Parts: sequence; structure tokens; C-alpha cells
Amino acid sequence: MAPLSPSDVKQLHLADVTLPQGHPLEGETCPVYGHVVQHPQGIVVFDTGIGEGQPGIEALYKPVRRPLAEHLAALAIDPADVSLVIDSHLHFDHCGDNRLFRDSPIYAQRAEYAAAQEPAYTVREWVEFPGARYELLDGESQVLPGVTIIPTPGHTAGHHSAVLETSEGRVILAGQAAYSATEFADPEGTDPRLRKGSWDEDAYLASISRLHNLDPRGWSTSPTTRRCGEPSSHDERPLAERAAHHAVT
Ligand SMILES: [Zn+2]
Repeated sequence: MAPLSPSDVKQLHLADVTLPQGHPLEGETCPVYGHVVQHPQGIVVFDTGIGEGQPGIEALYKPVRRPLAEHLAALAIDPADVSLVIDSHLHFDHCGDNRLFRDSPIYAQRAEYAAAQEPAYTVREWVEFPGARYELLDGESQVLPGVTIIPTPGHTAGHHSAVLETSEGRVILAGQAAYSATEFADPEGTDPRLRKGSWDEDAYLASISRLHNLDPRGWSTSPTTRRCGEPSSHDERPLAERAAHHAVT
């Protein structure tokens, strides 16, 4: 089988949110990303963005969307043709359009799914819907050749990332395993305020270290913070060029 090409991995800019009062980066705009992997054995979607129809989310985060369905249509992908979905975790800004994928397996860690049953953890109806089919993992799992899910707890107890083996090296879809490219590259040298709110800061740092040990050629985090006035940097380059992204929420 031909290996994945980096160009098979598409980053999707699903929304911009405004970080609310009380957030360490209050008032800043934060892009939300998902990814599509056009694997020879099936199409993979990694994170589905923010859904619609929740007044509380609209009021608090003021999302401006380009929904996942539009991105898929532009790529000539019917949601019914998506083989599997991976949610890095089940917060509202990562699972919002899971509802597009009735009957497709949605991969989440069992610990994450359990957390999502707790009040105020997420938007329940974006997680549970008719036809929802969760594949719950207790650790690492290769879901397609060259596509492996690995646990990266820290932001949440059940956060996981996808490791892609491509013809030009390893690419990691890190979800919110790190809040920014800068933090990913140098966690100890980065403002710790954002990760202080994590489920477990020690686990968070250990997960970043584990991702480093995989020696990735490229990585992407989501959501991503593009700080006001910050110059566009390496985060604009495609994954194949060692993309890395600034992240938050
Ligand atoms: Zn989150």
C-alpha cells in the first residue's frame, strides 16, 4: 500500500471564537481546527469543531464558523463516506459536528467518554445523537495502517492524539495536547497560565514529552490562538513543512 502523503492531511479552519471573560487570554480570537486524512483505506476526520444551536455557546464564545460540512463538500467528501472519526477529546469545540457522522465509528478514550457524562463538561447533544457509535479505547490503537491513536492525557483525562506515518515522516495531530506551538516546542519556557487549568498539569507535560520522543516532522494543535498583533509564523505552513500551531481554550 502506498503510504500516506503529507498532502493527504488537510487542516480545516472550522471556526474563530472570542475567548470569554475570565479566560487568561480574554478577548483574543482563537481559531478552531479539525483535520481530514484522505487515507487510501478510508477517510478519517479528526475533531469536528463547534456545533450550532446552543445560545450559551453563542453568547460566550461568539463563534464565526465555516462548518465541517462545507469543508467536506469542498473536498467532494460526503459525510457518509467518512470511515471513522477521532475526537481528541469531547469538549464542545472538538465534537460539535460529530452529528454529521451517524453510524461511523467515533474514537474516544473510555475515560473521556466517562468525563463527558458529567454535567457542564460538554454539550451533551453534540456527543449523543441518534446513530452515534462510539468506539471506546483504553489506550493506544492503530485504527488504519499508519494511523495510530495514542493517549495524551493532561488537558483532559481522556485526551488522545493521532500519529500519522507519512512518506515524508511522522505527523502528529495533537488536538489540545498543547496550547500553542511555542508551548509544544518549549513547555517549560512558556507562560504556564493556560495549562494551569488543565485536568493534570504533570500529565500534560509528560504527554508533550511523549510526543517529542516520537520525533515528528510535523504537528498541529487545535484550537489555535492567533494572538492580536502576533506576526504570522510557522503556523501558516502546511504540515509537510513542519507545521505547528498556536493553540488555546
Ligand atoms: Zn478542551
